[in-house]
Amino acid sequence: MLNLIIFGPPGAGKGTQSEKLLSKYNLQHISTGDLLRAERSAGTELGNQANEYIAKGELVPDAVVIGMVKNFMIAHPEAKGFIFDGFPRTTPQADALDVMLADFGASISTVLGLEVNEDELVKRLLLRGQSSGRADDQDESTIRNRFQEYLNKTLPLQGYYEAQGKYHGVNGIGEVDAIFASLCVHMDAVNG
Ligand code: AMP
Repeated sequence: MLNLIIFGPPGAGKGTQSEKLLSKYNLQHISTGDLLRAERSAGTELGNQANEYIAKGELVPDAVVIGMVKNFMIAHPEAKGFIFDGFPRTTPQADALDVMLADFGASISTVLGLEVNEDELVKRLLLRGQSSGRADDQDESTIRNRFQEYLNKTLPLQGYYEAQGKYHGVNGIGEVDAIFASLCVHMDAVNG
């Protein structure tokens, strides 16, 4: 299995690049943000609870997200590998992911980080908010809160994966195709 974490702050381009990577490498996409929004649209209890956090730009509790990812992986036994997008976002999530992959006899192959500065992110998210309909993309203070959550809880994971020699940072500013080409260099290195 080839298992990739696409890493980076909100608005870095993880979703856009995941779409391109999954078709080139034939991987299954898991976006916890998309799964949570689907739960909310379906009006499930999980979705309603999660929405209270999403609306404030805070992280949803680990147990909720980990359970959702686990169910998704179990539902896709045919997957040749996964692209984890927006997950893990905390150290307990990263630990849980290692355990879940071990159950598949697998592990994380590589972690590719899209590196973009805060002002560019805020600009991109406000622009996306005009068309996405996402309330959490429309309010600057919610966006800045999401970025703070990223700095406090998610960025430490970079060190976690660097210590394993798995983290590779890529400049996330520029043409989509040029960024994709940089990501593919790292993918090809582990797709032996
Ligand atoms: P995203 O679409 O990845 O930007 O996620 C939107 C929102 O969903 C985040 O601001 C969080 O409130 C929540 N969320 C998504 N993924 C996670 C996760 N792995 N852990 C906790 N909360 C998450």
